[in-house]
Amino acid sequence: MKSVTVPFFISHQGCPHTCLFCDQHTISGSRGDLLPSAETLLRTIELWRSTAGSRPLEVAFFGGTFTALPRNKQLALLEPLQSLLKNGTITSVRLSTRPDYISREQVQWLAGLGVATIELGVQSMDNGVLAASGRGHSAADSLSAITCIKGEGVKVGAQLMPGLPEDTDISSRASLDQVVAAGADFLRIYPTVVLRGTELAERYRLGHYRPLSLERGIALCAGLLHRAMVSGTPVIRIGLQADGGLSDETILAGCWHPALGHLVRSRLYDDLMTRVIADGDAVTIYCHPSRHSDIIGLKKAHVEKLSGRGVVVKIRTDVHLSPDEIMVAGTGGTGTYSVINDLNYDEERGACRA
Ligand code: SF4
Repeated sequence: MKSVTVPFFISHQGCPHTCLFCDQHTISGSRGDLLPSAETLLRTIELWRSTAGSRPLEVAFFGGTFTALPRNKQLALLEPLQSLLKNGTITSVRLSTRPDYISREQVQWLAGLGVATIELGVQSMDNGVLAASGRGHSAADSLSAITCIKGEGVKVGAQLMPGLPEDTDISSRASLDQVVAAGADFLRIYPTVVLRGTELAERYRLGHYRPLSLERGIALCAGLLHRAMVSGTPVIRIGLQADGGLSDETILAGCWHPALGHLVRSRLYDDLMTRVIADGDAVTIYCHPSRHSDIIGLKKAHVEKLSGRGVVVKIRTDVHLSPDEIMVAGTGGTGTYSVINDLNYDEERGACRA
């Protein structure tokens, strides 16, 4: 049964850096100036428990650099959870931090207090990109943090930010390959957006930084998602959450859309249909029920695209297909195709080739 995450945003708390792109208050929609008290933690968890039904609860501390907080502050956040972990009210704790604030001793200590998952803001595995973005850590820091966390039996997630200064499609793909090879259990992909008031916004204004457009970002992320799927590594989120402080007011430029994850995932199915369905054919496309909206596309975009190619299309669901498959019955026969096995994005800039 999928767990329910009780999120606490400790925006920028503990963070000793100012990355060029960062405004954690805007990203999380929370001021997060103060760490939540024990009372706030317990009251919030109780509220979520009352609506979660029988689903297990996981507590998550997002947005700050948890392991850069003084140890007594980390303990103040984790200590109130211990009795809830013991009596099963919550099953685990998740937190996010920077790769250069991880040590074996720190991870052992956290694991002993119920931390089961650590998410690392890797962003890129290219040292030039990291330096140009003011990250203040290296790719080697990320590699050693992933190895260290895994070595202590804690799950590790890697956050990647394609489109940072100096980043290219090639370095984005290489970054993903490297964190997967290092053993990341899951990924988040956050294409870079330019937030007002950040150093990146100033560079953009001066013409010193060219952000990803939405269309380029979708194409790039579709290729990254495909790589992750081929490797068997789940991508649990694509694009920043649409709620909170993100809006046209706060976002100046970059690859952002409230349904970015859907646009990226459904691009794979669009590319596959483009590849396997001939112009002017009359086809019935069968898909797993969970993929129906990906086949149709946002606002029926994929169906309209097929119609524009003269294709007469019917869409049906079939629980016997796996989520990555479609079956196409057309005038030339019937075939089953997979977005994992029948697409290849290794060509330049996210382009799909058969
Ligand atoms: S390390 Fe994280 S919280 Fe700190 S400035 Fe960079 S992105 Fe923001």
